[in-house]
Amino acid sequence: MTVSIAATHARGKFATDKIFGAAAAANKDVAQYGKAMVVNATIGAILDDNEALVCLPTVEKVYRSLPITEVINYAPIAGLPEFLDAATALAFADNRPDAYTEAVATSGGSGVLHHTIANYTELGDTLLTSDWYWGPYKVLCEDALRKLDTYTLFDENQNFNIKSFESKVTELLAKQNNLVTIINTPAHNPTGYSLADNEWDGVLEVAKAAAKDQSKRLVLLVDIAYLDYAGEKNECRAFMKKFSNLPDNILVILAFSMSKGYTMYGQRTGAMIGISQSKDVIKEFADINQFTSRATWSNINRGCMRLLSTIYNDKAILAQVEKERSEYYAMIRERSEIFVREAKAANLHMLPYIAGFFLTIPSNNPEAVCDKLHEDHIFAVPLAKGVRVAVCAVPSAKITGMAAKMAQAMAVV
Ligand code: PLP
Repeated sequence: MTVSIAATHARGKFATDKIFGAAAAANKDVAQYGKAMVVNATIGAILDDNEALVCLPTVEKVYRSLPITEVINYAPIAGLPEFLDAATALAFADNRPDAYTEAVATSGGSGVLHHTIANYTELGDTLLTSDWYWGPYKVLCEDALRKLDTYTLFDENQNFNIKSFESKVTELLAKQNNLVTIINTPAHNPTGYSLADNEWDGVLEVAKAAAKDQSKRLVLLVDIAYLDYAGEKNECRAFMKKFSNLPDNILVILAFSMSKGYTMYGQRTGAMIGISQSKDVIKEFADINQFTSRATWSNINRGCMRLLSTIYNDKAILAQVEKERSEYYAMIRERSEIFVREAKAANLHMLPYIAGFFLTIPSNNPEAVCDKLHEDHIFAVPLAKGVRVAVCAVPSAKITGMAAKMAQAMAVV
């Protein structure tokens, strides 16, 4: 028996991160065989064609030009007001819904998840997301003494499975009054799927039907971590307009993050943007989430907040950042197009990829497939029901041939 002095609810907590595990295996292979031999498709950040981590050049320039006092000083708990305005405007672009909105600064999108779980579910409640999901959702729920349940993301035609979504919403609301649903779109991690606008209509119909029972409270947490790599700016944000005129007992929260959109992953800067028809709900949103920030991390990174407001308030700088980002978006598209084309040729079944950093191959034996791929010096991330390939991190030259090798590995395991 090992000795434990942790509180009972904390005993046995241990973060086994498959992504970092797979990345470590790839690094070991690089050390042994050299970088040129190894395909490392485990990393969730943009690497250029030389496999160097990308910082958008204008983002770097602006960041380095900030006065040191703006980098080191404390910031208001709720976030710099100019940052909150910039984050809100950049999240919506031309698709601001007809509703009240408020924003609270958070430690990235992860911070939005943390606060939403803490403040919009009861202890012991169950949150809902799709069966393909970013692993930390579950860690965040469990650490907060909540649970996570899933609906089936795709139907038999590989479209959004509205029936499964509806039945899970009904099932959970029969047991609890608050329901937080996490929807990661557009450019979902790990599949690359984006909900179509009519699929959003279906989601909102289900939510509105459930909200007819006034004792129920629904929160739709829209995780937009990959929004800036999801297609034309206003097209991939068009769904946001639909958050107009929702009932008072439905709150939408956008999880805005600077990690990917501004290549500021480790700077831990984001914002939760609340959208509601009710002035009271929005005031409460600002109040309770600021309080939780004070209790969790105090204020967040001032320099990175100033970076965003500086970019946003200078049209030429913003245009330059958007241009640079669109070039990297095109680079990721080219890589994914090679993979999708070759997967088709090799009869390799993929989940529907629309955009984003990752694509996924479903498998009954993902660990074995990944192990087999190691023989070809290919490293990807084994998920519960498939293998995730980070097209954001692999140069086109190394993507070429990868789908065929995956098809071979799938055939023998
Ligand atoms: N949501 C998804 C789906 C992600 O993949 C990530 C990061 O990998 C995040 C949210 C949160 O990122 P951050 O906390 O760095 O903003």
